Order: sequence, then structure tokens, then C-alpha cells
Amino acid sequence: MDFVDQGEISLANITFLGGGSYLQGGQSGGGGRGGLKGAINQARLMLSNMDCGDFIKSVLSKLGYAPNLDSYLREFDRLTIIPTPAGDARSDRDGYPGPGYTAHIAGGVGQSTTVHVDAPGASDLVPTLLHETFHDTLYGVTDQALAVAATGIPRNSSLSQRSASRVASSQFDKHCLPK
Ligand SMILES: [Zn+2]
Repeated sequence: MDFVDQGEISLANITFLGGGSYLQGGQSGGGGRGGLKGAINQARLMLSNMDCGDFIKSVLSKLGYAPNLDSYLREFDRLTIIPTPAGDARSDRDGYPGPGYTAHIAGGVGQSTTVHVDAPGASDLVPTLLHETFHDTLYGVTDQALAVAATGIPRNSSLSQRSASRVASSQFDKHCLPK
């Protein structure tokens, strides 16, 4: 499917595409009325938003990939995006969620195509799903490298994984948060 040609689709329409088994009844914000499925649909649709699409293309370029949103969307669609299972490793080790994370790639950066959603109601869930795509097995980008690509901060800046994740996410939020 060529998503670029879908044109503008209002959020009022797409929130009803959710309703799957992940529906978070009554939950406000972030995951929205469509729950996790709704957020996944919104994340796909944000790629046809010019600001978000241009941002993702710019990040792809800076990471050395062709600025091709069709390829990126194909990768996004390969992801298995599920609520964080009970017993999932929770620590502050690199690639694992400590408190305050919205989602993380299972097993750590470059280890999986499964995204565990820690906070399905988080207001930044949609841009975070786009962020997590860069941590999957194809891209395998660390938060430090992602922060550099997303912001243009110097390559040698010594940010912790947690700080780098926040810095990168601030840019994903700025460009790819559904309005
Ligand atoms: Zn990250």
C-alpha cells in the first residue's frame, strides 16, 4: 500500500480502527480511545504527516539509510507491539525500562522486532512507537546514535542511555505527536 497517497485522514476517523483485544476501555491520552491498536494505526498515519514524515526521513538519512518512508513503514509493520508481559526484565540496564519509560524493544537494542509497551496510556505513545522502530533488528540504532541523528547534537556527546533516549524522544514528540 502506498500510504503517501492516502491523503489526510482525521484522527476522528482513525481512533475507531482500534477496538481489538488491546482496547484500554476508558483510558484517556496517549493510547487514546483506540488503545494500543489505535496508537499503532496513528503511528502509521503520522508518516503521511509532512512534518513527521520529513523528520523520519531526515533521521534515516543521518543514520545512513535511504530516506524512504515505504521501507520504514514496512519495518514498522514487521514489529510485534504488545503490552509488556508480566515478568519482563525491568531494570535500568541499557535497553531495559526503568521507571518512566513508555515502551522498549524486547531484549535490548538490535535484539528483537517485539516492542513491549510499558505505559499504554502515555501521551507520547505514538511517537515512541516510531522511536522504537529504530531499535529493532534491522536498524539496531542505540539511543545515543538516535539522539545525534534526531537533534544534531555533537556525535561525541556523552549522554547516558536514559538521557539520550529522552533527548531523541523530545524530537519524535515534537514532530510526530498526533495533534
Ligand atoms: Zn530509545
